[in-house]
Amino acid sequence: MTAPPDAKTIFGWLLSMYGNQNWWPGRSPVEIMVGAILTQRTSWRNVTLAISELDRAGLLSLTALLQASPDTVRAAIRPAGFANVKYRRLMSLLQFVAGSGDLPGLAATPTDVLASSLRAVPGVGPETADSILLYALNRPVFVVDAYARRLLERLGNQWARAPYPVLQRWFQESLPTEVALLGEYHALIVAHGKARCRVRPRCTGCLAWPQCPLGQ
Ligand code: SF4
Repeated sequence: MTAPPDAKTIFGWLLSMYGNQNWWPGRSPVEIMVGAILTQRTSWRNVTLAISELDRAGLLSLTALLQASPDTVRAAIRPAGFANVKYRRLMSLLQFVAGSGDLPGLAATPTDVLASSLRAVPGVGPETADSILLYALNRPVFVVDAYARRLLERLGNQWARAPYPVLQRWFQESLPTEVALLGEYHALIVAHGKARCRVRPRCTGCLAWPQCPLGQ
């Protein structure tokens, strides 16, 4: 039995199949943070509708969001669903950012400190925290998500169900510490999870197929 493919091999397959994804779709760190909260439990299409509403209302800045009335913000983010919960989470995150000295304050904070502080914000789990670290704050961290776990499990990787930090370390230890590469990798895994490695996989054309026990 051959060993499961390593992280670099998987990245090569994904990049060949889907090409550069150029994530995260957001024009500013604050917009990326807003998107990271709004994308919880909904499709990206709904997130873009909510972000467009915020943009139309002139609310895509830290100050504007913190000063706006709760009803105004809740109405704008309603397309992303769970407006009350997401409003509270968004405010908790933005208050954390403001209390940390805004973006310059965050930029001066070491990654490990930032990671644990972000994870302590209500409603910000490891995946959301690392998405913010990677895409909004340019920190070289790998984002572990359900698509990554499913892919590794299907490829026979023993760490597929390991706790978040263990699986994150497995990826990071064999990859260059590069924000661009790590950002592409997460985006490619999402693309693969949506296009082929779905709950019911559509394996046609998958470059992992020769080494995938499930695909065969
Ligand atoms: S062969 Fe199928 S199950 Fe295996 S990684 Fe590819 S899409 Fe997923």
